[in-house]
Amino acid sequence: MDIPRIFTITESAHRIHNPITPQKLATLGAALRLEPGARVLDLGSGSGEMLCTWARDYGITGTGIDLSQLFTEQAKLRAEELGVANQVKFIHGDAAGYVSDEQVSVAACVGATWIGGGFAGTIDLLRRSLCAGGILLIGEPYWRRLPPTEEAARRCLAHSISDFLLLPELLASFGQLGCDVVEMVLADQDDWDRYEAAKWLTMRRWLDANPDDEFASEIRATLTSEPERYAASTREYLGWGVFALMPR
Ligand code: SAH
Repeated sequence: MDIPRIFTITESAHRIHNPITPQKLATLGAALRLEPGARVLDLGSGSGEMLCTWARDYGITGTGIDLSQLFTEQAKLRAEELGVANQVKFIHGDAAGYVSDEQVSVAACVGATWIGGGFAGTIDLLRRSLCAGGILLIGEPYWRRLPPTEEAARRCLAHSISDFLLLPELLASFGQLGCDVVEMVLADQDDWDRYEAAKWLTMRRWLDANPDDEFASEIRATLTSEPERYAASTREYLGWGVFALMPR
């Protein structure tokens, strides 16, 4: 049980597997006015940076579930490194359908909403773990600008234009799902670079170290084409943000 290997190659050096910087993760934690001891659930917790730094900086406790064995191991090491291993727990597994035993004050899915079949289903899933007055966090892409054609959307690695909404539409749809939007922290293009451009050096170093690996030709092709594709497409058209929601 694991995620496709391409991700653990290209993102092996990432602490955050999304276009959000450490500074903005801290901004988000501060914006949520987290209380020491608050319980946080994180579905698709990746390498655990959100839970570990919030445990260190804001005194939260938390549980993260992630399908990647490598990222879950990295999360546990990060918790040790930051001295918060007694506050956070990381579970390797499928988060689809996961509901926590004890209700939490923050239930998050940041950049992995396919876990609930899209953000609407993920909101439903997270709500089942949330205490009264708690906050849901959804990390999700949106269109900064609408791609002019379906082909342009595919160049952003979307299946179609209808995969994502414009920001005002996304915010409105949270309302239609019965939630107040109570905060948001958005990525800018420089933050996208920290996520996407950081993969290129990782790929280059991996290629140098693994020239005979069965993935080498795929990684070579990706590294060759990716900077131009990214600059022309994802960087121009795709936005990304973490949205804090409270059920009405
Ligand atoms: N929230 C983290 C990781 C986002 S990347 C961060 O911001 O850094 C998406 C993550 O979802 C990856 O770590 C991937 O391993 C995980 N994932 C994918 N499918 C999953 C599933 N079904 N259950 C749990 N985690 C999953």
